[in-house]
Amino acid sequence: MSREAYVAPTSAFNTGTTVDPGPGLTTQYICGDCNQKVLLKQGDGIRCKECGHRILYKERTKRMVQFEAR
Ligand SMILES: [Zn+2]
Repeated sequence: MSREAYVAPTSAFNTGTTVDPGPGLTTQYICGDCNQKVLLKQGDGIRCKECGHRILYKERTKRMVQFEAR
């Protein structure tokens, strides 16, 4: 167990520096309308880039909505 390596230095929290999430931080959503995967960065408006639908579901649960067709 390398537990100590995981513990962040507490001094980092005292400097007042906010941890920059970086450009790669995106959250994947699923459009509630067209079921397209939509990658949104923090600060992006919640909106499907394919159809403009505004209801997106976070793709977090493993329970995928699957179509019975095909
Ligand atoms: Zn859509």
